[in-house]
Amino acid sequence: MKKISRRSFLKTTLAAAGAVGASGLALPASVQGADPKELATLIDIRKCVGCEACVDACKEVNASKFPEPEKPFPKMYPSRVRAADWSEKRDVQDRLTPYTWLFIQSATVTINGEEQTLTIPRRCMHCQNPPCADLCPWGAARKLENGITRIDADICMGGNKCKVVCPWKIPERQTGVGLYLDLLPSLAGNGVMFKCDRCYNRIEKGEPPACIEECPEDVQTIGPRDEIVKRAYAVAKEIGGYVYGETENGGTNTLYVSPVPFETLNKAIEKGPGRPHFKAVEDSMAHADNLAKAMIIAPVAGAVAAVGRFYKAAKSVSETDGKGE
Ligand code: SF4
Ligand code: SF4
Ligand code: SF4
Repeated sequence: MKKISRRSFLKTTLAAAGAVGASGLALPASVQGADPKELATLIDIRKCVGCEACVDACKEVNASKFPEPEKPFPKMYPSRVRAADWSEKRDVQDRLTPYTWLFIQSATVTINGEEQTLTIPRRCMHCQNPPCADLCPWGAARKLENGITRIDADICMGGNKCKVVCPWKIPERQTGVGLYLDLLPSLAGNGVMFKCDRCYNRIEKGEPPACIEECPEDVQTIGPRDEIVKRAYAVAKEIGGYVYGETENGGTNTLYVSPVPFETLNKAIEKGPGRPHFKAVEDSMAHADNLAKAMIIAPVAGAVAAVGRFYKAAKSVSETDGKGE
């Protein structure tokens, strides 16, 4: 099968759609504007050389979204609630943190009798039915129509629920920032949860995520999910490889294609806090008790989201007023 690079894939789609951005790289017109389609990304593990250009690009492009905590942190009750502070360790790059939304995992495996080290970009999987969003008590985590799941830092209370229910334990907390400081600094939440938001603000402008744009090896491809799934299986067929993400947790909008089984990769990678696994994952929201919980919290989430939005608007007015003084 003929290989299609990320640029030629986008170019072909764009030529058909008649829309190319200023950078020459843009999203298919079918996913822009009023009728956004569910977008997915495909990460071709064979191609990654571990250069971390994507990690640097993510940090640079999203720097303004990173937390700037106020210190000292308020004392929390009960005292077993511990502060999470990554603000002095912003350069940690070998795991996920509130300042590192993408990192490179490595796995030494045997391919065709030869030992090889594969490098694998890891970040939020952007689930099709994300428990982090469905079960967020405050309505801060939401899935957008274009397949992105993002946490609104102006509404999040840092209570960690999204991380507890995430099959990959992706979101990471920073204490000393966010709404809780003004509402209930000692009693509710403990900061804000952070993770990859798939560069939602770039996507809104028709630009690809920074990690995709800056990769010198065209490791990632973005497009409508049905096309991405087809492409994943076409590559897998071509190389005798394996696909991850089509059905994991009921389907994700981050898919991987690997030359070795994901069970093998999962055994070979370093796992633990901030370092997600590659295990098979059942659809966590398929369980009735989770759905029931989601339905119970929905009205609460709506009310708190409204308070958060009001608070955000009031804060922005007061900042604007302050500038005029
Ligand atoms: S920029 Fe591309 S090749 Fe480099 S580490 Fe990231 S995904 Fe891999
Ligand atoms: S991987 Fe985790 S944080 Fe990302 S969308 Fe799924 S449940 Fe949410
Ligand atoms: S999609 Fe954007 S936010 Fe997510 S890892 Fe890539 S650069 Fe970072």
